Amino acid sequence: MSLLYYVFGLFVAGPVIEWGIHYAIHRPPPLVYHKNHHLAYYKKDPIYEIWVIPVIYFLYLLGCYIAALGFAKYTVVHNLIHYFPGLFPKLTRHHEIHHENPKVNFAVSATFPDTFFNTRSKYFPSELKKI
Ligand SMILES: [Zn+2]
Ligand SMILES: [Zn+2]
Repeated sequence: MSLLYYVFGLFVAGPVIEWGIHYAIHRPPPLVYHKNHHLAYYKKDPIYEIWVIPVIYFLYLLGCYIAALGFAKYTVVHNLIHYFPGLFPKLTRHHEIHHENPKVNFAVSATFPDTFFNTRSKYFPSELKKI
């Protein structure tokens, strides 16, 4: 496969799929596992995402390498955002806004899907109250 295929898959299609899955799990009924992650944010004790490990392995076994890489990229970025918030300040802010307002900012490893689907907020709920 060409480099362009992987670049497009990881940095364009991947974040859009990530947005879609995250958006879908916020539709009712709420996914308990994800709800727990949202609640853990307030305890400053985010949960390591281990559910993706069998998913990545399964995709790898199926030969869907680009999807396996996409899931791995999402997981690494998501965990880095929570454990090392200074590493990607723009993505950290984008995702922390989502934790405080689950109706916006569904993309995690990029911000453009939220801009594209008009679900982006650049402000925390507390900042919006001051405007
Ligand atoms: Zn999170
Ligand atoms: Zn969420």
